[in-house]
Amino acid sequence: MTLHLRFVYQALPTRVVFGAGALARLREEVERLGIARALVVSTPGRSSVAGAAVWALAARAAGLYDRAAPHVPAEIAADARAAATAAGADGLVAVGGGSTIGLAKAIALTSGLPIVAVPTTFSGSEMTPIYGITDGGRKQTGRDARVLPRTVIYDPDLYARLPASIAAASGLNALAHCVEALYAADANPIASLIAEEGARALAASLPSVVHEPGDGVARFDALRGAWLAGMALASVGMALHHKLCHTLGGSFGLPHAETHAVILPHAAAYNRDAAPDAMRCVSRALGADDAAGAIYDLARTVDAPASLAEIGMPESGLAEAARLATLAPYPNPRPVDRDAVLALLRDAFDGRRPG
Ligand code: NAD
Repeated sequence: MTLHLRFVYQALPTRVVFGAGALARLREEVERLGIARALVVSTPGRSSVAGAAVWALAARAAGLYDRAAPHVPAEIAADARAAATAAGADGLVAVGGGSTIGLAKAIALTSGLPIVAVPTTFSGSEMTPIYGITDGGRKQTGRDARVLPRTVIYDPDLYARLPASIAAASGLNALAHCVEALYAADANPIASLIAEEGARALAASLPSVVHEPGDGVARFDALRGAWLAGMALASVGMALHHKLCHTLGGSFGLPHAETHAVILPHAAAYNRDAAPDAMRCVSRALGADDAAGAIYDLARTVDAPASLAEIGMPESGLAEAARLATLAPYPNPRPVDRDAVLALLRDAFDGRRPG
C-alpha cells in the first residue's frame, strides 16, 4: 500500500442495516429517526418494491413519488420538492438505484429532510454526501452533509431479480469508485483499505451475480462490495475516469453505469505507470498481474458492454469529448493530456483490450 505520511480522513455517520429480508426493518428504522410521515421515492420501474415500502410504513407513509429519472432533471427535482411539501413529509425513503437516491438528495438539499435509502443497484450513492442536478443539459454536482442518507437498508433479497445487464454495469461502476479511490490525490490508508476490500468483494462475486442469479452468497458479497465502494467514493476525490464518464454522460447522453464499465480498463491503463502502488492493490484484489487487463477481462466475463460504439457514442464526438474532459481536469496521477486522452477514448470506442 502507498505510504501516506499526511492525510485527512472524515468518517461519515450513516447507520447501515444489512441482511436478507432487511427491508422488513424499514418502519422501525424510520421510527428510530423520529419520522412520522415519510415520502417514498422511486423510478416508475421500481414502483412495486416502493409500493411494498409504503405498505410496510403503514401510517408513517406520506405517499409515493415514482417519477425519478436519470441524472435528476431540475424540473423533476422541483416537482418532487413540491410533492414532499404538499404531502407534509418530514422524511424520505428512497427505494431504487442512483437516480432515485439522487432525487431524494435533491429534495433533502433544500428541505433538510432525513433520508432512509434502500438501494437496488450497486451505485453506492447511498453512502455519499454527493448530489447532482441536471439543468439545461448540465449536471451540477456538489457535496452537502444534508443529503447524506441517515440510514441505509441493504437487502440482498431485493437484488434477486436484478437484470444481469444492470448488475454487470452497475457492479463495474462500483469497482470504478474503488480503483479511483486507490490513486486519488487525497488518498489515505483508511479509504484505501476500504477500496481494496470493495474491489476484492466485487470482482469475486459479480460473475456469479450475473450468471447464477440464485447464488445468494454472491449477491451478499457484491452488495458488501458496493457499500465499501460507496464509502471509498465518499472519502476521497475522483480522477480522470470519473471526469470522462461525467463528460460522456452529460454531453453525449451515454448511460451512466455502462459508460463506467467501458472506460474503467482504459483509465486504469492510462494511469498504470503513474500509480504503481494503486495498481498493485487492484491487481491483488482481482487476483491478476495487470490491473487494467484484469478489469477488461472481468467486464467480458460479466458480459458488460465492451465499447463506446456499442453504447451509442458517435465516433465524430471523440475529439470533442477529449477536449471537454481536459478543459478542467480532476486531479489525476498521470498528467491529463488531450492527445493521450483522445487515444484512450479511441481504444474505448473500439473496445480494445488494454495492452
Ligand atoms: P438507475 O438508478 O438509473 O437505475 C438503472 C435502471 O435500473 C433503472 O431503469 C431502474 O429502474 C432499474 N433498476 C434499479 N434497480 C433495479 C432492480 N433491483 N431490478 C430491476 N431493475 C432495477 O442507475 P444507477 O446506475 O443505479 O445510478 C445512476 C445514477 O446515480 C447517475 O445519475 C449517477 O450520476 C448517480 N450516482 C450518484 C452517486 C453519488 O454519490 N451521488 C454515485 C453513483 C451514481
